[in-house]
Amino acid sequence: MLIMLALAGGWPWGCGRDGTATDDARWATLRDEMVTTQIAARGVRDTNVLAALRAVPRHLFVPTDVLAEAYADHPLPIGEGQTISQPYIVGLMTELLEVKPGDKVLEVGTGSGYQAAVLAAMGCEVYTIEIRPALAQEAERRLATLGVKRVRIRAGDGYAGWPEAAPFAGVIVTAAPEHIPQPLLDQLKVGGHMVIPVGSFYQQLKVIARRSANDFPTRDVIPVRFVPMTGEVERRP
Ligand code: SAH
Repeated sequence: MLIMLALAGGWPWGCGRDGTATDDARWATLRDEMVTTQIAARGVRDTNVLAALRAVPRHLFVPTDVLAEAYADHPLPIGEGQTISQPYIVGLMTELLEVKPGDKVLEVGTGSGYQAAVLAAMGCEVYTIEIRPALAQEAERRLATLGVKRVRIRAGDGYAGWPEAAPFAGVIVTAAPEHIPQPLLDQLKVGGHMVIPVGSFYQQLKVIARRSANDFPTRDVIPVRFVPMTGEVERRP
């Protein structure tokens, strides 16, 4: 246990909310349990993903009124009617991206910035877009405070992706559209993967691989419940 905590201390996250080392250790224990019992136990195996989930202090990404539930097995409200995903869903989606250190990843739906921080902890270069300016600003401030590098945040509609930074080895969408935005497919690198919930009330988590310029084999993984993707996608057939 002491060795694990010493390793976790290698991350520049600073102190716990009340600033004590014991508090940090308590959160790290909860985080370790979360990874073991909710994520690894359900089949997520990628060691880089599990290490990132053990390292990123999820409790610093949730509002104080739900702090006690930061490591619980469900999504949590983050303001403006939006949510931070259930830990298992973050682990599963991150594994399905099949990205490695140095890869460029596009996220649509920054929310709290937690998913982006997990990808950054894996060594990815993260480009993330959030349509609600207040959430984008808050996430930016939070990541700066935590010293998270390798994440660029843009406030705006993620429908059009981030063409200047494309192509991406991974595209992860954390709000559900009823159809997959074409620009996001266009910006996926050949050999890369997109992970996206699709649907309205009933949604399927889909993984789309890009095998060549025009070959996008797709599979359904599990039914999920995400907040809807808003903006341009709602106006397109
Ligand atoms: N990944 C986040 C959780 C996302 S919740 C986390 O780790 O905390 C989904 C987010 O998608 C919400 O914040 C919502 O405002 C945002 N969103 C919805 N439609 C969007 C769009 N078209 N472009 C960018 N962000 C969008």
